This record gives sequence, structure tokens and C-alpha cells, in this order.
Amino acid sequence: MVVEACAVCHSDLSYVDGTWPTTFPLVLGHEAAGRIAETGSGVDDLATGDPVLVSLIRTCGECRACRRGHDVVCSGEFALSTCSPLSDADGNRIPQGLNVAGFATQVVVHRSQVTLLPDDVDLVEACLLGCGVLTGSGAVTNTAGVSEGDAVVVVGCGGVGIGAIQAARIAGAATIVAVDPIAGKREAAKRFGATHVLDPTVDDLAAAVTAATGGPLADHLFVTTGAHAALAGAIDIVAPMGNLVIVGMPADDFTIQVAPSWLAAANKSILGSKLGTSRLAVDVPALIDHHRAGRLDLTGMVTSTHPLADLAVAFDEVRSGEVLRTVILPNSCAGARA
Ligand SMILES: [Zn+2]
Ligand SMILES: [Zn+2]
Repeated sequence: MVVEACAVCHSDLSYVDGTWPTTFPLVLGHEAAGRIAETGSGVDDLATGDPVLVSLIRTCGECRACRRGHDVVCSGEFALSTCSPLSDADGNRIPQGLNVAGFATQVVVHRSQVTLLPDDVDLVEACLLGCGVLTGSGAVTNTAGVSEGDAVVVVGCGGVGIGAIQAARIAGAATIVAVDPIAGKREAAKRFGATHVLDPTVDDLAAAVTAATGGPLADHLFVTTGAHAALAGAIDIVAPMGNLVIVGMPADDFTIQVAPSWLAAANKSILGSKLGTSRLAVDVPALIDHHRAGRLDLTGMVTSTHPLADLAVAFDEVRSGEVLRTVILPNSCAGARA
């Protein structure tokens, strides 16, 4: 695929900054959209020039997980996973970061990672569906099953958090409390549907959520950031029968303590949500429908765009926490959106 747009996800930063262990060199970028350059043997449902979304979710379609619709935990083996299509000038293999390597002019990916897009969708906006929005909205609709009237708390209001807030609004949640230490992100959360916003550095979260929900605390609390402080004590803000949904990924050695007896007594659950428990073939068309109907705002989530040469600038923006999503345009000289 020729990459027209690839957003910078916080996971990319986690590798670059050493939060998650990896080896270098590595080509990152996994939230991509573009057009088919050529297809491999056996792929007869896509043609050169087709607009497509690429995600890191790679499925074999045959393993137990795939047969049960649990695409995000596919255990299949892929030639692309054992032998990267990338190599340096000396022929040494370079790993495809998170299965895509989208900070490049072209990518080679498995058919299962590709979703055909409608012709009229802006690829700079659509690329957000490859990871951030897919993950946030999927956590709400697939993992937690938020329904009308629920009280929702979203901790962390970056691209994933805003995706969760929008999905909670679409699902009819009665209360959506957005929590972020950055004022600009709290303002964004309001624009995208939060009914209340809190600053965790000054607000007593339990008291504020109690006041916002009228007493029952959160039916669903989504922690979309990997920040350790966001997870400490989060289960205390979950109502009986409610669930804590862990979406963001902290450092591998970080742990939290919970009292199992108390979980049982209050019938609370802790749920992990990998990529929003998403299935590309189901969730991407649904999100496109929401976008086209005006329910899901992707336009307002693209804070900035940059050419590939300014990747470091884009990473600095993500590191600062001031952007919702910054998008790399690998095949653009200027990088600025018209
Ligand atoms: Zn991501
Ligand atoms: Zn599989």
C-alpha cells in the first residue's frame, strides 16, 4: 500500500522512549491509510488504487481465537511475522514495528490487516480508525458493552480517550466524566461529548465522580493512558456491578493491588481491552457509518500533520501531551493540510 497518512500513536512513543523494550533499528507507525499499490497472489478482492485502512490486527482466520471472533488474540503464524519484508542496505532484516511499519512511503501487510474504505472518506482522518479510535470505541462497545443510561468515566483524553468518549455518547451514556491533567485535553473532551471534566491533580476523583453521577460511581471506568497514577485507586471509583477497563498499557513491570474479596462482594470486574476487542470487518464499517452520519467526529481529532522528514517534531508533539492526534503524510513534500 502507498501510505497517504499514518498517525502517531502513543505506543510508537513507548517504544522510542524505552517504556516498552525493543531493539533498533525498527520502523514504527501502525495507524495508516492509503491506496493499494499491488496485491499478492490469492488476493482478488482488492485492486490497485483502492482506498484502504491498515491496522496492526493480523488474523489467520483459522485458529481457535479467529473462529470465535476473538481477532485481537489470533495465534496464527504468518510469513510476515517470521521474515520482515524490510531490510537495510546490507540486507539485514529490519522488524515491522507493530506489524505495519507505516512511517514509510509504502508498506507490505497481510490481507487481514486491510479494510476497504469508501471513496469519499478523507484518508488523513480515516487513518485514526486503524488504532486510536478503534481501540477507544471498541473498549466501550465491544469490551464493556456500554448501554443507554450508563455512567462512564474516561481517564486520559488523547486519541484513544476521545474515541471512547465519542462511543459512550453514541451508546447513550447518561454521564461521561473525562479525566485528564491537561486543560486542553479536558476542553477537547467537552467538545466531543463529555458531560463533566476533572483534573486529577486537583480534584478528588471519587468525590467528584460521585457528585457527577448522582451517587452510584462509574458503571464503566476506562483507563486509556498507561500513566501509573491513573490506575492506582481506579477500582475504587467503580460502582457495584461495574467494571474497570484497562485500555492503555503501562510499563510491563507496573502492578496494582486489589482485594479479590471486595471485587466479589461488590460484583466488580476488571477487564483488559486489547485494541478494543475489535474485528476490523465489523467495527471499521460501523465507525465509518457513524463518521458519515456526523456522529463520530474524526476531523476535529487531527491536531496537526507533518511530512515524514519531520517525524521527530511529531513525536515531540505527542510527548508534550498537547495533541489529540498528529498525522504523518509520508508521500507529501509539504505535509501541511490544505
Ligand atoms: Zn496504536
Ligand atoms: Zn487466527
